[in-house]
Amino acid sequence: MENRPCILVSACLAGYHCRYDGSSNLVPQIKDLVTRFQAIPVCPEKLGGLPVPRPPAEIQGGDGFDVLEGRARVVDKEGRDVTEAFLKGAQATAELARTLGAKVAILKERSPSCGTRTVYDGTFSGCTRSGCGVTAALLLRQGLQLFSEETWR
Ligand code: SF4
Repeated sequence: MENRPCILVSACLAGYHCRYDGSSNLVPQIKDLVTRFQAIPVCPEKLGGLPVPRPPAEIQGGDGFDVLEGRARVVDKEGRDVTEAFLKGAQATAELARTLGAKVAILKERSPSCGTRTVYDGTFSGCTRSGCGVTAALLLRQGLQLFSEETWR
């Protein structure tokens, strides 16, 4: 099919109000990619069944690769273990990438799902650590090239 979209983008970067607090992280140029059918928006946390709004969550004990390996977990600010929802969302996003033949994704930095280079460190203090989110880790394993809103240009 001609002009088939082959870029996944974090839906919040395209202006969808899917962040934990019901807001977005709009980057107008990324929204334009979606409007022009050059990119497909996806929110792994919503695909994992989490609601909007929801308590913020962070990875504790590692990064997304550690979560995939069962060495770390994702916990929300109220202390609930939401690891299963994050894994489900990552798997659904990876499946979508396979179906679309996507080779590239532009994802929201520092998110426990979408972070490509850094994520919050699990202390809910605003501090970060190097490493990627759960969905980003699975997409990297699948061979996608990842960018963030800070590196995609
Ligand atoms: Fe945005 Fe990704 Fe968080 Fe969804 S999971 S709100 S797309 S950063």
